Amino acid sequence: MPEKAYIKTFGCQMNEHDSFRMMDLLREIGYDIADSPEDASLVLMNTCSVRHNPENKVYSLLGALRRRKAARPDLIIGVAGCVAQQEGERLLEREKTLDLVFGPDNLFRLPEMIAAVKRGERVCATQWLPRERKIQNFIPEEWVERGHVDGVKAYVAITKGCNNMCAFCIVPHTRGREVSREAENILREARSLVARGAKEIWLLGQNVNSYQASRDYRFHQLLDDLSQVDGLERIRFTAPHPKDWNKALSDLMASRKRICKHLHLPFQAGSDRILEIMRRNHTLDEYLAKVRYLRSVAPGVEVTTDLIVGFPTETEADFERTLYCLEQARFSQVYPFKYSPRPGTPVADLPDDVPREAKEERLARVIALQERINEESQRALVGATQEVLIDGAHPRKRHVMNGRTDGYRAISVRGEHLEIGDLVAVRVTGYAGHWLEGTLIGERREAARATCPVC
Ligand code: SF4
Repeated sequence: MPEKAYIKTFGCQMNEHDSFRMMDLLREIGYDIADSPEDASLVLMNTCSVRHNPENKVYSLLGALRRRKAARPDLIIGVAGCVAQQEGERLLEREKTLDLVFGPDNLFRLPEMIAAVKRGERVCATQWLPRERKIQNFIPEEWVERGHVDGVKAYVAITKGCNNMCAFCIVPHTRGREVSREAENILREARSLVARGAKEIWLLGQNVNSYQASRDYRFHQLLDDLSQVDGLERIRFTAPHPKDWNKALSDLMASRKRICKHLHLPFQAGSDRILEIMRRNHTLDEYLAKVRYLRSVAPGVEVTTDLIVGFPTETEADFERTLYCLEQARFSQVYPFKYSPRPGTPVADLPDDVPREAKEERLARVIALQERINEESQRALVGATQEVLIDGAHPRKRHVMNGRTDGYRAISVRGEHLEIGDLVAVRVTGYAGHWLEGTLIGERREAARATCPVC
């Protein structure tokens, strides 16, 4: 019987991508992937320290595993990702049941690290690679054409690390300085993913649109080249930074059918004073001008965002600028967070001076306003035709499948013989909660962009 490994992933799509790679590395050395930690002889936690909550969950899962290891001493426990990079040896010292701690630059050494643990060592691998090796080892040559296809979608990491140093963010310390992967390497991975069934590719990076493989080859060229990969139906990317978003990128998104009309553009705060303390390097007016320009060249584009309420020194007047931004930008989805200080960030020493009740009240106002905006935009879509990529079956209803519109709205689609991977034209008939509802127009056409009635 093969041994089984379980990976618990916290945080963002980059961590999901890294977990898929870890699963493939573990399969390579004979592990099957378990559905729960109870079935596994190896448990890895791929961690996130961007916010307080996921980090707390790591420590509570570690507590549960400590008890399991008392009953099963051969259980191997490892921590990867941002908490591992941040804590390193301290984590090994603190958690005596831990066998393995490794950061993002050491991911592809997983097989040799597991072998060392099996020889009785406790391993800590958090050293950074020098820049050149970091680029070469971004995805090692032998793994380029083995990226993971998850249903209709696949992640492709294009940058690693971040040079921005936003004042609230730990990522530059846990992922290091930014490097961009070679373009040909990315294109080769994309072609291979498409050949193995991917219809939609997500380009990943902490600051995806600062991608720059050489002086003349930047994010714009990469997107353009990817949009010409045969058989690739959709391209998404996350997360771009507003200061690096420009008119040329908006124009490209408008002109290339395969680049989805969805931009997730975090604005974080509406007040210019707070944006300056956050070191975001743009003003609210600059942000809104970019959104307005994109909407002017790509009508119907959906914009989503992240924001923080209760940042140190945020006054009611500052917060009202955040609400103003919501009203102006009319996002289709907002991911709001209450500020909590993260150790090691530039603002960690500032007094966390917005009371908890005020943070909660502001968060509730953001959610209430966004619910209204979302309801209005959903209502406006009723009767419209949307292109939908079918990505799963409805859990209860017969002849109904789930999918995503080009703008990344979740939609359930009624229609005969629909299958996962179909790209179809759908008339929006209504909505329930955050889901649109629709019916298939005409016949099912298998991933048939060229004959899709919307195109
Ligand atoms: S752009 Fe700012 S928020 Fe995003 S990863 Fe870099 S430092 Fe963090």
